[in-house]
Amino acid sequence: MAKKFYIETFGCQMNALDSEKIAGNLCCNAMEPAESPFEADVVLLNTCSVRDRAVQKVYARLGEFRRYKKMRGDVVVGVLGCMAQLEGEKILKRAPYVDIIAGPQKSHAIYALVERSRPSGGARIDLRSDDESGPPIEDGPTRRENPWRAGVTVSEGCSRSCTYCVVPKTRGKERIRSSRNILREIEKLAAEGYVEIMLLGQTVNSYLDREGGNVDFAELLWRAAQVEGIERIRFTSPHPSDFTRDLLDVMVSCPRVCNHIHLPVQSGSTKILRAMRRGYTREDYLEIVQKIVNAPRDISISTDIIVGFPGESERDFEDTLTLMETVRYDSAFSFKYSPRPNTEALDIDGAVPDEEKSRRLTVLQQRQREIQSRINQTYMGRILEVFVDGRARSRVSLTGRTGNNKIVNFDGPETLIGSFARVRITGFGPNSLKGSWLHEQGLE
Ligand code: SF4
Repeated sequence: MAKKFYIETFGCQMNALDSEKIAGNLCCNAMEPAESPFEADVVLLNTCSVRDRAVQKVYARLGEFRRYKKMRGDVVVGVLGCMAQLEGEKILKRAPYVDIIAGPQKSHAIYALVERSRPSGGARIDLRSDDESGPPIEDGPTRRENPWRAGVTVSEGCSRSCTYCVVPKTRGKERIRSSRNILREIEKLAAEGYVEIMLLGQTVNSYLDREGGNVDFAELLWRAAQVEGIERIRFTSPHPSDFTRDLLDVMVSCPRVCNHIHLPVQSGSTKILRAMRRGYTREDYLEIVQKIVNAPRDISISTDIIVGFPGESERDFEDTLTLMETVRYDSAFSFKYSPRPNTEALDIDGAVPDEEKSRRLTVLQQRQREIQSRINQTYMGRILEVFVDGRARSRVSLTGRTGNNKIVNFDGPETLIGSFARVRITGFGPNSLKGSWLHEQGLE
């Protein structure tokens, strides 16, 4: 009987794609996915280390698997990804029953580690990094979760050095994939029926394929948009410093490129941006936003924000609030600064007490909810094209996304799942829109 595996994924979309690659690697070796961890012979946690909370969540989950491991001594438990890379053998001190520890560059090698693992016979650890001298990123088997939407790796790692970030340490320096390979994969996905592509890279728009004829990210995006069958192309995350006029021109001129950009700002204060070593000022950032706003296409903007970075005064925090009001983000992921091991920010004076960080986060999130409600209100009565993903959380209505990344819930038949629908907006909240399906043509 085929051995079964179960993967639990923490963190970002890149981790989600890594998990699909790990699943591809295991399925290629005659293993099968299990419905739950308790039906699996191999349980893998694909982890994140961007914030301490994410790390503690993994340890808590490992604690839950301890009992399972006691009941079934032959089950293999693995910790993979960024937290594994960062914590290494330290994981064994808290969870000595872990059998595999492997970093985020090992998706293609997990089956080999599973094969070599001997439950209760010492952990198999592979934290070597495929740095610039290692093999280039090539296509590998990928077992995708969603039949319509696919993530495509453009680059891995990051060559920037933001003072708070562990990613360059866990994922290594930026390595790009050849544009030829990327486009070949997109063509293959189109032939398989995928309609939406998400181009993924830590700083996706720093892409430059010198060997492939100096193809930069704008050119890559344009070429991807020419692939027949792909209806929507998204990308994440671009770095503001690498945002070019050419990239904006492609977003404006190619309808298949979605009219949404996630542009992480992190802080609205130039002083804090410098301390973070983000490489741009508040003014630089606002200038980019102005270009996007002035472009002849309505492009929604989302962002990431950190509050309570060391040295962040009330005035700096106010700068972040005013920047939010100026940009009017369609959505924002906001977090309290989380000190990470071996990062330069640990040496920066002026730690903000946790209580104050929490207060600032509450204020900021409340303000952002108000902005989102105001923006979403303007959609009332409009007719939007929605790609229907499935059932909403309530299970009653369907849910889907617009090109500019608005979530729309509406009633309609199950047969719409996996296709485009036209929906008139009849209600709104800060996080989503409500609508009614226009099943007759020509209503606009
Ligand atoms: S750009 Fe900065 S925050 Fe983003 S992955 Fe690189 S170092 Fe981390």
